[in-house]
Amino acid sequence: MRVYLDHAATTPCDTEVIKAMEPYWQVKFGNPSSPHRLGGEAEEAIEQARAQVASLIGAESGEIIFTGSGTASDNLAIKGVAFKWQKRGRHIVTTQIEHPAVLESCRWLEKQNFKVTYLPVDEWGVVQVSDVAQVIREDTILVSIMHGNNEVGSIQPIEQISQLTSERGIYLHVDAVQTGGSIPINVKTLGADLLSLSAHKLYGPKGVGALYLKKGGTLDPWLHGGQQENRWRASTQNVPGIVGFGRAAELVCERIVEDSDRLLILRDKLRDGLLNRIPDIRINGHLTERLPSNVNVSVAGVEGEGMVLHLDAAGIMCSTGSACSAHNLQPSHVLMAMGIRHEIAHGSLRFTLGRSTTEEEIDYVLEVLPAIVEKLRVMSPLVQERVA
Ligand SMILES: *Cc1c(COP(=O)(O)O)cnc(C)c1O
Repeated sequence: MRVYLDHAATTPCDTEVIKAMEPYWQVKFGNPSSPHRLGGEAEEAIEQARAQVASLIGAESGEIIFTGSGTASDNLAIKGVAFKWQKRGRHIVTTQIEHPAVLESCRWLEKQNFKVTYLPVDEWGVVQVSDVAQVIREDTILVSIMHGNNEVGSIQPIEQISQLTSERGIYLHVDAVQTGGSIPINVKTLGADLLSLSAHKLYGPKGVGALYLKKGGTLDPWLHGGQQENRWRASTQNVPGIVGFGRAAELVCERIVEDSDRLLILRDKLRDGLLNRIPDIRINGHLTERLPSNVNVSVAGVEGEGMVLHLDAAGIMCSTGSACSAHNLQPSHVLMAMGIRHEIAHGSLRFTLGRSTTEEEIDYVLEVLPAIVEKLRVMSPLVQERVA
């Protein structure tokens, strides 16, 4: 049995997406900036995709900038606003649980003499709106807070935060890469000025992202070159990738309610099953304000890496935290920010469900994992640890 429960790391391309992309490799291969008919065809395809992606988040086509990834969107938003508005102020607010694409962009800006406040979160992995209000200053130009957390799945109170930023004329950037395909998003309701998406997290191809930039908003372009993407992002566009992104966005619009209703049931079955079958286990992240696809647990007395390897041997693919931190053995910065003790954070597992997930797969995990935990606990020097 092969069970993929790592959809927060990436998703497979939908067959419909591959079909939509196919003509743009060899037949309709034109450069969208070219003046001839092949160029025109490619340009038209990009504009259709722009409308499809805009429609996924309640935006207008003109507000969508295609980029090279979710990371590229985050970098463009944060560095672009920082440099554009530095005369007004050099203070940025973000949280301790952001994706590295946001955290490392902010750390780099600190080296360029910007000041960054990294807000803590509560034990559920949620930032407090009152904390945001407290740290905003005269010279704050940007607040960057993610929508859904990629490790523990907690959803942040963006609508309330946007009331604080819009009153004060501060840009609000939202990394919505995890929520893009999994819960309905409306940029107007959220009150975002900038919002990042990535195609490969919503059954589209890898290496394509989008940045929503609210009409009237402005930033400094980050790549210098041609005038593509309304001058916001130089580079010949990845036409097949963008076409795939557009089709993937369209499919999400069609099936998001049905998909998330189904996943919620499976997610809760997995969560309750793990709680019932494994002693000394805790659920990480908010109980209700969370992604329908995410189950994150800490198992006392065992290493997350050990569990991941044993699960992989049984055909079950999941992760300890995020794919990005899988290669270093530091405990997750997200779990640390939530105040979870080191030893407990080390025993963490993230299961993220998706379109292909079935009830049989969940049953299989519930059958296999308790035995793995028992075996590892017998071998572990940490066996005395308790989650409480
Ligand atoms: C995956 C992810 C990113 C990065 O997107 P890429 O397209 O892989 O660069 C950024 N933020 C979050 C929350 C993510 O989950």
